[in-house]
Amino acid sequence: MPPSIGFIGLGIMGRPMALNLVKAGFPVTVFNRTADKAEPLRQAGAQVASSPAEAAAAADFVISIVSDTAAVEEVVTGKGGILETVRPGTIVIDSSTISPVASRKLACKVAGVGASWLDAPLTGSKHLAEKGELTYMVGGDREAFDRALPVLQAMGKTHIYCGAHGLGLAAKLAQNVIQSTMVEIFCEGFVLAAKAGLKPQIMMEVIQGSMARASLTDFKAPFIFRGDFTPYFPLKLMHKDLTLALESAYAQNVPMPTAAAVKEVYGAAKAQGKGDLDYAAVVTFLEELAKVQVRE
Ligand code: NAP
Repeated sequence: MPPSIGFIGLGIMGRPMALNLVKAGFPVTVFNRTADKAEPLRQAGAQVASSPAEAAAAADFVISIVSDTAAVEEVVTGKGGILETVRPGTIVIDSSTISPVASRKLACKVAGVGASWLDAPLTGSKHLAEKGELTYMVGGDREAFDRALPVLQAMGKTHIYCGAHGLGLAAKLAQNVIQSTMVEIFCEGFVLAAKAGLKPQIMMEVIQGSMARASLTDFKAPFIFRGDFTPYFPLKLMHKDLTLALESAYAQNVPMPTAAAVKEVYGAAKAQGKGDLDYAAVVTFLEELAKVQVRE
């Protein structure tokens, strides 16, 4: 009998991840704060719980992927949270991108009831979540990582053990500093080219023939050129990750001047009401400043 899984959070990422676990044959019990988002999972064969505690009660593994630090604290330690029912020996795998400091505190609380905790943030966005091809970066006990691997393999294709609690999140925050900056600076370059009168497709040919080519911007460019900002990764969550990265940088005395500026650009776009759009919508903020559009 495969191990049973309690799954909490059926947003852009959680829904395809939970579906892949069901397809792989794991018995899955899901919880989502907004209950109707659990319906596609029920139809696929999952049980639906009415609280994180109910989802965790009989689980060998509990997986959470919710918005931010406060949301994870609520689903773990709040009323009806995982801590109320989680069994000794269970492994709680948190895939949300949150504060590494808060995550380590939650690891201690979970250890207090005899369960284990892994910080297991991921990268790959919605399209790779749907294909089960996410990349995981995991912090926590090696033995818990080895036990969790067959479960993680149903959702991802690359699984990197990073070391102690919090190091998965440290890797994730560093990765998103790079990713957010790549997209923002790509947009700045394309706004400059558009202002000079270049068509985006011509500029893209130049980039793809140069050392500046990257798989990330190859993927994002067609969406930017069409003005399609359907969220794969909401801009407000990228801003959250830059904020976490800078908090971590200040705490460790690491200067990050470019990341600080890029965070402000995403913050300004969020303040304009673009937070629920994909983070590539940062281009529209830059376009408005320069009074030009990067469009097909
Ligand atoms: P999302 O679509 O906004 O989903 C957020 C989920 O969190 C929803 O299920 C939401 O429930 C739940 N939630 C929020 N606050 C809650 C609370 N207080 N209690 C219980 N549930 C709560 O976000 P997402 O894109 O799936 O991202 C989830 C996490 O993965 C974030 O930490 C994000 O940074 C990370 N991540 C995302 C991507 C990506 O490409 N999208 C990639 C890597 C990592 P409701 O449905 O009730 O709102």
